[in-house]
Amino acid sequence: MKTILLAVLFLSIVLTPWPVRAQEQEEITRLLSQYVAIDTSNPPGDTTKAAAFLTGILEKEGIPVTRYESAPGKVIIYARLPATVSPPAGKAILLLHHMDVVPADRTQWKTDPFVPAIQDGDLWGRGSMDMKGQGVAQLVAFLMLKRQHVPRTRDVILMAEPDEEVGGALGARWMIANHYAELDPEYVLDEGGFGSTDLFAPNTMVYGISVAEKKIVWLKLRAEGVAGHGSQPTDTNPNDRLVKALARLLSATPAPAAPPARSGEPSVLEMMQAKVGAFAKNKFTNAIQQSTISLTWFRSGVGDPPKINVIPSVAEAGLDCRVLPGTTKDQWLAEVARRLGDPRIRIELINESDDPVVTSHDAPLYRQIEAAIKRRHPEAVVTPILIPYGTDSNAFRPRGVKAYGVFPALLPADVVASMHGDGEHVSLASVREAAQVFFEALRDTLVR
Ligand SMILES: [Zn+2]
Repeated sequence: MKTILLAVLFLSIVLTPWPVRAQEQEEITRLLSQYVAIDTSNPPGDTTKAAAFLTGILEKEGIPVTRYESAPGKVIIYARLPATVSPPAGKAILLLHHMDVVPADRTQWKTDPFVPAIQDGDLWGRGSMDMKGQGVAQLVAFLMLKRQHVPRTRDVILMAEPDEEVGGALGARWMIANHYAELDPEYVLDEGGFGSTDLFAPNTMVYGISVAEKKIVWLKLRAEGVAGHGSQPTDTNPNDRLVKALARLLSATPAPAAPPARSGEPSVLEMMQAKVGAFAKNKFTNAIQQSTISLTWFRSGVGDPPKINVIPSVAEAGLDCRVLPGTTKDQWLAEVARRLGDPRIRIELINESDDPVVTSHDAPLYRQIEAAIKRRHPEAVVTPILIPYGTDSNAFRPRGVKAYGVFPALLPADVVASMHGDGEHVSLASVREAAQVFFEALRDTLVR
């Protein structure tokens, strides 16, 4: 009898959608407005006020907060809801978001980027999408676990960090290097994927949960030559040498696809294709199907402004390369050198991210995120995806952590395009949807 009662109780707690009450709807709008109003532009990336804001909310609910400062103004906070059973069934689930945002060029914005404006259900402001909206969705889900006394078979940690927008050395990577034992999660929920009706495949609702990302390889090319008078061209002009080599590099056909991560296992791309069929044609799907090169800057000339009649002795260019998992830095450097076709051009490595590790999607938390999405959208295709940009998840995965990147809500194309742009905005309905999905996925993972 007791077993039956427990089973009934269990079923009534889990597997049910959590309708957002008016109170939480209002709370999400209020918290996101207040959070976006705190200017955390990076540089300088000071998160002191944002961390104090989040700390105040958590402490008011009786949740203790631990604070670190990795450098002056680079404040990290984390809060922990302990398991309600002993011993716990597993290691913690870490909800991770970055507090810093990219700078905003006020002259290009129609609204003040740090005075949130709400219009037709959208909230406009720097960081509303990347990633304070997701931060608020995670925070509200975290608070609901506490408020609703959800039984927990493992700890849940909420962590907010600085420095992500400039590489993360003083944020997640600093915590991993200095305080890993305090986190030691089994799972990380981070930014990365999202839901869309057209971005991944034409006219198909797809929710992408990122399980891997491309490797960042930033390169500086340097051509040296002999300075001289512009009136008498020579074949030792470094500009000519660099431009010709870049033309060869950029006109080459895409690099051959990387080999599968492990023999016999499909790559993330193959898993995606199996789930969604033919990809939509756009810059996102293009970027995840091949290693890419963006020529982002040139530097040349003598003087400022550069003299038009002087041939300089040095010309440089910057390449932002994003490399598919399975290709190493050395393989990629060799490929770039081969395509440049000029051994006199020096290739300098500016920065590289860790070699990407692919997280398996065969795990309870992934399945519960998928279930919570499908409860709302039975027609949705939920798929593991590879993302073209870098996130903090890449620093956790080499430690065996299952890191999933997703803002689990439908995002219109204009919202996706507004990230880092002039006029960043997010639909408040999608932040509510994300909060619901996070809450349900956590609740239903924590009972096991
Ligand atoms: Zn971000």
